Amino acid sequence: MIKWIAGRLNCLRGKHERSNKRARKPDGADHYESVCSYCGVPMQRLGKRNWVVKQRP
Ligand SMILES: [Zn+2]
Repeated sequence: MIKWIAGRLNCLRGKHERSNKRARKPDGADHYESVCSYCGVPMQRLGKRNWVVKQRP
């Protein structure tokens, strides 16, 4: 519970925690995608341990 609160605080600061369980590579994509474990925002992988919030087109 405390970890969840801490995670949400990081979300509010723009530091999201990407979910290991939900990481996947879409068909035809050249990068992995996942979501934030705490708030569920879509994220994409730029490189090793480098994940950013996915920008809407
Ligand atoms: Zn988040």
